[in-house]
Amino acid sequence: MGMMMKARRYLRGSGRVLVFVLVASVVWLLFDMAALRLSMNDVTGQLLKERVIRDQQLIRQQSRATRAGRRGFKHPEQRMDPAATRAAKGPLGSHLELAHVYRHGGQKEDANIHNLHLPEGDPQHKGEAAQRNVPPKRDDPPKKEAVNLDMNAMESEKIRGSDGSVKVTLPVARPDNIKDAAPIVTHTSEPKTNKKDPSGLKAESGTDASPLPAGEASERRGEDARNKTLEKPVGSIGQGDPKDTPGPSIESRARQAGVHQVLSLDLTIAPRDARAAGQFGQPALVANNEKAEVKKRWDEGHFNVFLSDRIPVDRAIPDTRPETCAQKLVHDDLPSTSVIFCFVDEVWSTLLRSVHSVLNRSPAHLLTEIILVDDFSTKDYLKEQLDTYMSQFPKVRIIHLKERQGLIRARLAGAAVAKGEVLTFLDSHIECNLGWLEPLLERVYLDRKKVPCPVIEVISDKDMSYMLVDNFQRGIFKWPLVFGWSGLPEDHIKKNNLTISDPIRCPVMAGGLFSIDKKYFYELGAYDPGLDVWGGENMEISFKIWMCGGEIEIIPCSRVGHIFRGQNPYKFPKDRQRTVERNLARVAEVWLDEYKDLFYGNGYHHLLDKKNIDIGNLTEQIELRERLKCKSFKWYLDNVYPDMKAPLVKAEGLVFNHGLRKCLTLQHGVLFFDQCDISSKSQHFNYTWMRHVRQQDLCVSPNGKASGIALQECDHANPAHNWFHKSSNSALADHLISEFVSSHMCLEAGPQGDSLHLNPCESRNAFQKWEFTHYHAL
Ligand code: UDP
Ligand code: MN
Repeated sequence: MGMMMKARRYLRGSGRVLVFVLVASVVWLLFDMAALRLSMNDVTGQLLKERVIRDQQLIRQQSRATRAGRRGFKHPEQRMDPAATRAAKGPLGSHLELAHVYRHGGQKEDANIHNLHLPEGDPQHKGEAAQRNVPPKRDDPPKKEAVNLDMNAMESEKIRGSDGSVKVTLPVARPDNIKDAAPIVTHTSEPKTNKKDPSGLKAESGTDASPLPAGEASERRGEDARNKTLEKPVGSIGQGDPKDTPGPSIESRARQAGVHQVLSLDLTIAPRDARAAGQFGQPALVANNEKAEVKKRWDEGHFNVFLSDRIPVDRAIPDTRPETCAQKLVHDDLPSTSVIFCFVDEVWSTLLRSVHSVLNRSPAHLLTEIILVDDFSTKDYLKEQLDTYMSQFPKVRIIHLKERQGLIRARLAGAAVAKGEVLTFLDSHIECNLGWLEPLLERVYLDRKKVPCPVIEVISDKDMSYMLVDNFQRGIFKWPLVFGWSGLPEDHIKKNNLTISDPIRCPVMAGGLFSIDKKYFYELGAYDPGLDVWGGENMEISFKIWMCGGEIEIIPCSRVGHIFRGQNPYKFPKDRQRTVERNLARVAEVWLDEYKDLFYGNGYHHLLDKKNIDIGNLTEQIELRERLKCKSFKWYLDNVYPDMKAPLVKAEGLVFNHGLRKCLTLQHGVLFFDQCDISSKSQHFNYTWMRHVRQQDLCVSPNGKASGIALQECDHANPAHNWFHKSSNSALADHLISEFVSSHMCLEAGPQGDSLHLNPCESRNAFQKWEFTHYHAL
């Protein structure tokens, strides 16, 4: 309109001017159109790029979350120590050297090997020699007595060998018939001179001298030991105040006198062949002409199945415990455990090695039974053949499920029939190391609400070698509930004076391997039976344990090797990713409180739309949490995992518009712009994980008509409330891009500051650029 007026005025004046103006206008118009097209192209390109980046991020997060699942990635691993590696490189015939490596991880050159080679043919001795050893009677009412840590009073029978080593038999506190059993070599301790032994407790101490440093001894002796442990208490991470550390519960069992040095049993079926493949945990070698076969068989287990079949089922592995572990004391009256292995289509040799490692390296009186739960495997060898093989071991029981239940419900089926006082869950492709069991049971004994996990070491999927892992590792999670390992913070180690053998507080367990008091497991409601197949159950049980009064610990003196596979070798009845994300959503809904936004907002946005997923009924789980009076997730983060960053919103504060240089204000249900005032509540907005721009319950949203903006009650399922902001470093990073409208539109302030619109995105338009005061996560 203004142009026409101008034109008319010029018409009256001068024709030349008119022509000039007309030409100029046309040129200007053409320029403008070209510029517009350019900017449209630019914006479309940017948006496309943004979307690609977002999609990539989403896919990455999800695949990380679902692929990683439980033991997603390995511990930071170390190869076996130099001596072991040396031995591995040397000729395999070097029996002696290998024996050293085996017994001491290559650290002690003067080591002696003492394996009990039991005669073949005697069923009693077939890996279960001590089967006839009746567990110590626990019928008597527990006596409340001070724990006796005085080795002199401990009636272990010690035999000094001709080589100077000491063989410790089982403490005589145990039933008489044990004494008649073939002497079980439990531990070899060479005479030590100045070896560091903080406990001061040595097997060979047959003298009158107090085995404990004077101060420590007097402190420990004569005190009611109910609140004493043989280990250091584990301080809470990042918390200076020791009262935050949950102490042993009142329900801790009463102590009985009597402790003994941890039993480092290692029975074998037959004398070990040092030349056997993989013996002593060494890498097994594959000849060139065998490589095709390795490849062919890989998918049976997603590891080197070919090699596994070659390795003895009772091979030796290096004793990777920290040095002090073999000298540690444990109570004589530890509870006994049912070991539960669930499996679906497990490789034969790996399953057998798992079972044998338990039979051979667990004190028989502490092993009630081994329960094998066959989760409806499809392989024939896991039916009669397995039953027949295992029938030679009276302690092994097999349950064949009639339908595929998945790991979680299979474990529940095993637990339901377990007779032991403690349940110990293990994966079916593991090898328990020397002395693995007692340190776990000791923790449960000290406090039935402690849930101890062994250190999970790495059995190479490629060469089946046994590898050490870094010290001070604990299980953690990252958003969106992705399991991982992380070292304890240095300052925490220093502050608490932690040594490598002290128990480590563990925010999240890896899931595969742990012991738990059976009664306590059921008090906690076991696992949520609504979790399917695999994944997320470690998060569920971890949050539940911590938030409902228990503790999860990693026990460095207990070590179990596990084959980490790149893929699950079994089929998922439904889509794998959907199964895992559904499980995780159940966990998030029940346990995460307001923090569930961080779960959904980190790549699981789509799960909020109930059309996409049915996570099932959660009533029972929510009721359980109330009944157990469990603490909040905030408490868990503050006390158990304080080094975790969990901002409840992505950004907050004033919402500054660059073009107007004013701030978004909401008063009496109306949005407008005003001078920025940090103290004004009406100018405080959150940019949430749900990608809402909100003040209390009200969300900034397109109003559906024209290009207006309205305030609506926030609704997670309504994509109209979602805005992308700072989602990448692109030219539109400062914009608020509506996720809802099909053609990408951005939130724009009217130049007068009196309106708010949705307009096509323009990267350089300052009225479309927004800035929050604080950004917590981008
Ligand atoms: N498992 C099972 N049923 C299933 C899935 C897994 O019994 O539906 C068993 C599996 O055989 C293994 C254990 O559960 O012994 C843990 O599974 P996996 O080793 O695949 O988990 P990861 O170690 O990879 O986390
Ligand atoms: Mn596993």
